[in-house]
Amino acid sequence: MRLAVWQARGRNEPSAVEGTGPWWISATGVCAVDEAQASLDGAILLPGDSEGLALLVTSEPLEGRLARNGQPLPAGIEVLRHGDRLELGDLRVWVSAAAVPIEAAYDPGLHGDEAFCARTRSRLRVGEPIVICPGTESTPCGALYKAEAWALGRRCHQCGRAPGAAAWKPPGLDKETYRDLVRLAIDPRPGD
Ligand SMILES: [Zn+2]
Repeated sequence: MRLAVWQARGRNEPSAVEGTGPWWISATGVCAVDEAQASLDGAILLPGDSEGLALLVTSEPLEGRLARNGQPLPAGIEVLRHGDRLELGDLRVWVSAAAVPIEAAYDPGLHGDEAFCARTRSRLRVGEPIVICPGTESTPCGALYKAEAWALGRRCHQCGRAPGAAAWKPPGLDKETYRDLVRLAIDPRPGD
């Protein structure tokens, strides 16, 4: 299953993280597991099965420091649902089933050699900003666009995804969430 993973720090706006997982969640943020620093202070997030959207494996050092929707987690495996929010210090991470367009820098190693913009047909240059079309609920896509071509707001050439198609986004940081964050920062193990 393809997941969208969002992250934000403090009161910043969330951004989507590119990748197919598994991901490594640590105090430094979300990254691909193979890019993770050799450290045990993290959790592994991977696509789930029929039981849940994703699985989260929390390591012992993060026990009680990593929280899900405001509730500190024990070490071990948790099944995550669409829209779940994880908190670690001032880092927040959301997991969503809804596909979102991914902004990235073109990398032949990740996106394929000799790639061309699906709209302009011009060759992509290494490092230039691109957008990867997520497709629709019935049709996964993955077409590559130059960022400025995607921004024109026309339907995807490959899958027909409407540019304004609603995609799940993390909710804004409301007062309740902010209170949860402050509470966790002051007392990481409420209820103990
Ligand atoms: Zn598409």
